[in-house]
Amino acid sequence: MHCPFCRHPDSRVVDSRTTDDGTSIRRRRQCPDCSRRFTTVETASLMVIKRSGVTEPFSRTKVISGVRKACQGRPVTEDALAQLGQRVEEALRATGSAELTTHDVGLAILGPLQELDLVAYLRFASVYRAFDSPEDFEAAVAELRKRPPGEKGGSGATPGVPEPVTAAD
Ligand SMILES: [Zn+2]
Repeated sequence: MHCPFCRHPDSRVVDSRTTDDGTSIRRRRQCPDCSRRFTTVETASLMVIKRSGVTEPFSRTKVISGVRKACQGRPVTEDALAQLGQRVEEALRATGSAELTTHDVGLAILGPLQELDLVAYLRFASVYRAFDSPEDFEAAVAELRKRPPGEKGGSGATPGVPEPVTAAD
């Protein structure tokens, strides 16, 4: 690939290592012309099938912007949003599927968001799950209250999506 500094059309790999989670390879490259170094990351292509049937590459940025909307007015930092985006992407990649639906992506967001901020979670879930009535919404809140923190979901609603690791507060 082109050197990002001088546009030289070639580069040499000086180091290559698989990331700890095994989902990507980072390559350290050096430009033979200007000698500057840069890093490339190689990951398996992850596609999302939208409700319309259109397929597009998974976008962590889109996940974060969707969650950011649900977090309006909540004490959630950009750092926390970025971390959530990373966890969602890792969880989705860990499923080993090359193609996912927007539904899969939504489900993968629910767990980490619930840990991050309960109000934002309920906002997101109310749109995502399209609660039909206030009673449905209250039932969801009640379900959350009786579930001890850290317990696995067990609702059967997230097949193939691993439970996120509980972050220590
Ligand atoms: Zn160069």
